[in-house]
Amino acid sequence: MKRPDSLSKRINEKSEVFSGVVMEQSLDLSKRGKPRKWSVDEIVIANVPSMLTYILGTLIMFHLGILFGVLYIAFVVVQLVLFMRFVCIYCPTYDSIHCPSGYGRVAAKLFKKGDVSQFRRMFNRFIPFLSLVWVVPVVGALVLIFTDFNYYHLGLLISFIVVGYIILPLYHRHFECRDCPNKKNCPWGK
Ligand code: SF4
Repeated sequence: MKRPDSLSKRINEKSEVFSGVVMEQSLDLSKRGKPRKWSVDEIVIANVPSMLTYILGTLIMFHLGILFGVLYIAFVVVQLVLFMRFVCIYCPTYDSIHCPSGYGRVAAKLFKKGDVSQFRRMFNRFIPFLSLVWVVPVVGALVLIFTDFNYYHLGLLISFIVVGYIILPLYHRHFECRDCPNKKNCPWGK
């Protein structure tokens, strides 16, 4: 059934107000009342642990075979784009200097803003798939170790686990999530 124009207009106005409220609630303002602004230098540094993880993962997969290495690089790129498309566009820090990783600003160049109230739902839905980028190299390294054991392969596995599963989450938790205005709304920040 078609809604009268005046009713549709009122519903749209209410939706906008609701989105505004959700956004206000989801922004965890710092003690001084303003979300933190991240400089370009800080954003570059913030990306070092994840870049290191991708490099180590690529190295492991190339040892399995050139095709595996190339496929892994493609997967990393695709998962970054999907993350921006299905998570960042719903984040309150989309297109702002308050996004600690800078992805929010890149996302704004590629995709339109989404409904902020959907952030948690989209995060929970897509993160398990996108996290495969941290699982695949571990499986690859285990295959290498079982089929061709040497201390170099073992070292690659240990390095990947230390960087990807210990340093990276600690870094995020203590340096990025701590000051992220989306902390209260983000399952990662809990
Ligand atoms: S804070 Fe996280 S989810 Fe939000 S825009 Fe930045 S990278 Fe994306």
